[in-house]
Amino acid sequence: MITVKGLQLSFGSGSQSHQVLHDVGFSVGEGEVFGLVGESGSGKSTVLRCLAGLHRHWEGEIRIGGQALGHKLTRERCRLMQMVFQDPYGSLHPRHTIDMALSEPLKIHKMDRQDERVAQMLAKVGLNESFRYRYPHQLSGGQRQRVAIARALILEPRILLLDEPTSALDVSVQAEILNLLAELREREGLTYILVTHDLGVVVHLCDRLAVMQQGRIVDTLPSEQLSNGGATHPYTRTLIDATRNYSRVLERPQQFASP
Ligand code: ADP
Ligand code: MG
Repeated sequence: MITVKGLQLSFGSGSQSHQVLHDVGFSVGEGEVFGLVGESGSGKSTVLRCLAGLHRHWEGEIRIGGQALGHKLTRERCRLMQMVFQDPYGSLHPRHTIDMALSEPLKIHKMDRQDERVAQMLAKVGLNESFRYRYPHQLSGGQRQRVAIARALILEPRILLLDEPTSALDVSVQAEILNLLAELREREGLTYILVTHDLGVVVHLCDRLAVMQQGRIVDTLPSEQLSNGGATHPYTRTLIDATRNYSRVLERPQQFASP
């Protein structure tokens, strides 16, 4: 469904030019959850931002369903693909109620049944009606991230680009949000690209993953290889070994416990 080939991106110009993505390529099947992992600064968010249309000066090829993607953020692209950011507080306007946050994209895209869509979307992300007219500061971190996910899904996109969607949250809430994302993917038949530095998250949620290092994809593998010893690339092994020190999930894959 998504094919990325030879993706390159530099910031700055002339002698200040700094290449951040080098020949990045991967493909994601329809309904797949594809993980993008790697240390901080390796270019994960930049890849998502190219896909989301937030950077316009990339080179290479991005295809969605066979169709080449241009550099501009078009209406069709917004309907197809939405991004969820790490910090749900930063991505919601502090003086807009949840109702306003969810209604705005519907107004822009002149969608029908706006009132009904907002109510249904809130229910889908597990928030009851009492949340509708609250402001972001009246919500917990997990509830805000539920709203951010609702806002991303309100136009019924086929693809979600998730940039560290749980890393700003408490550990107990992380599991809740990851379970919600898994459930929504299953129910709505969505395709995800999930950026995370947490290999435990990848094991639970992703079918396959790519490992990035300094702007390059150095390894692509099925996520079960993270836990069954099948990963052979030295850098991937380094990431797994670093994770082992603080996490047991790689040794014991299991469903996240619901709180
Ligand atoms: P990651 O998400 O893997 O932590 P990023 O994609 O955010 O990494 O960043 C990759 C590299 O690109 C970093 O060196 C970062 O400093 C640089 N970078 C990201 N965005 C910009 C920007 N808008 N201008 C200049 N450099 C940037
Ligand atoms: Mg990032």
